[in-house]
Amino acid sequence: PRRLEQLPFSHSFAALPPAFYTRLQPKPLPAPYLVCASPAAAALIGLDPAEFATEEFVATFAGNRILSASQPLAAVYSGHQFGVWAGQLGDGRAILLGEVAADAPGGALEVQLKGAGLTPYSRMGDGRAVLRSSIREYLCSEAMAALGIPTSRALCVVGSDELIMRETPETSAVATRLAPSFIRFGSFEHWYYQGKTAELKILADHVIDRFYPELRADANPYQALLAAVTRSTAHLVAQWQAVGFMHGVLNTDNMSILGITIDYGPFGFMEAFDAGHICNHSDSQGRYAYASQPNIGHWNCYALGQALLPLIGEVDDVHAALAGYATAYQEKIDELLHAKLGLQASMEDDVGLFEAMFKLMQDNHVDFTLFFRRLGELQRENPGADAPLRDLFIDRAGFDAWAGQYRLRLGRENRSDAARRAAMHAVNPKYILRNYLAQIAIDKAQDKDFSEIARLQKVLERPFDDQPEFETYAALPPDWASQLEVSCSS
Ligand code: AMP
Ligand code: MG
Ligand code: MG
Repeated sequence: PRRLEQLPFSHSFAALPPAFYTRLQPKPLPAPYLVCASPAAAALIGLDPAEFATEEFVATFAGNRILSASQPLAAVYSGHQFGVWAGQLGDGRAILLGEVAADAPGGALEVQLKGAGLTPYSRMGDGRAVLRSSIREYLCSEAMAALGIPTSRALCVVGSDELIMRETPETSAVATRLAPSFIRFGSFEHWYYQGKTAELKILADHVIDRFYPELRADANPYQALLAAVTRSTAHLVAQWQAVGFMHGVLNTDNMSILGITIDYGPFGFMEAFDAGHICNHSDSQGRYAYASQPNIGHWNCYALGQALLPLIGEVDDVHAALAGYATAYQEKIDELLHAKLGLQASMEDDVGLFEAMFKLMQDNHVDFTLFFRRLGELQRENPGADAPLRDLFIDRAGFDAWAGQYRLRLGRENRSDAARRAAMHAVNPKYILRNYLAQIAIDKAQDKDFSEIARLQKVLERPFDDQPEFETYAALPPDWASQLEVSCSS
């Protein structure tokens, strides 16, 4: 394992022309202290977790100490926010330190401080992030990785008693994130909407050379890039739907060019099932509601396609690349739903079975996670043992009817209950980051007790395993949880 000073930094993003970013120093965070750090994330960059306990570690990831090998910068991008062109945005509070060699696409992971002070792209913001949202991003990044969903990672959160103003004064923090790249759809839109095709091409070439080198052989590498991003975006959204994850702010500036989950804000995991659920209190129109995410993913790919048009050439070629979205999404969600129901083959009326299931879940507001987990315990020949699952429903007769159909469908495959249970438990998590669990950890952290963050992270590191000592973390949310609201305020 490497010491902090030994991290092998490189700077491929900084090698782009100066118009792509501004070099600057983070703003020191007063009297910083370590809130949490992820050994699993540290391992990705070969960093020795023993470093967490050092003053240098805290100072570095507070932005108070600049590693000699780093070259801090803030990147520019633009984007569509809630469907409206917003013009220039950019890293308003994020500062890239550089890339550290890692076993990752492109061979390195970018190390980025979030909440590290004002940049030329801060607009009306203060360049800071609150402890609350930093903890949420930290916990969710690491939890998503454990669920096997492509995501940026979180190395640590460093806190400070410095107060910043949101709805009320809150303490500030810096979260350190890792990803092969934080380039977004909006990074491309930025150049397109200024008519700067040369810069657009430089960016596309950079992304292809670094992350999609096999596309160089294609007759139209830019069309191939759009097709590849469209596919990985569709696959990502399908994975979100399958665990009930709602991003909350699917603006084009929050869409990764690598098809990974980035920019955790007012996200949520589905609890009482409602396809129309809106997790972001600021999203008054419900643009980013659960059931809308698949279409929004496609819409965002259109925005990227528009931006790549000058490189791709023909509108028809843009459309051809985007047309892959529906198929890619359908194939992936179909595969995931079959796995969630423990079905090995794909059969004719499976879609009908899935639709009836979601209808029943909706009508009964069944807890998404508990439903799929308990479905894994179903015994095919023994409806008498259905109680724990059946009790999630108000409409017991409706459940019995659907369960009857499901049993018939199971009967068309000869898999034992035990084998199906094991397969289903490996894809249907028992533990997810419920809002109230994050809130408990945040409340304690605001009183300087960080133990619950670490405990929760440990539980969420093994979301598919039964962890009897942590049974309460798998329970239905308490009544007070329904009062929790998360918004864009972060
Ligand atoms: P988001 O909706 O969180 O993805 O943020 C949209 C844009 O606002 C991005 O350009 C962010 O960098 C910027 N931003 C958000 N919060 C702040 C802040 N407190 N200070 C400066 N910029 C911010
Ligand atoms: Mg963002
Ligand atoms: Mg954000």
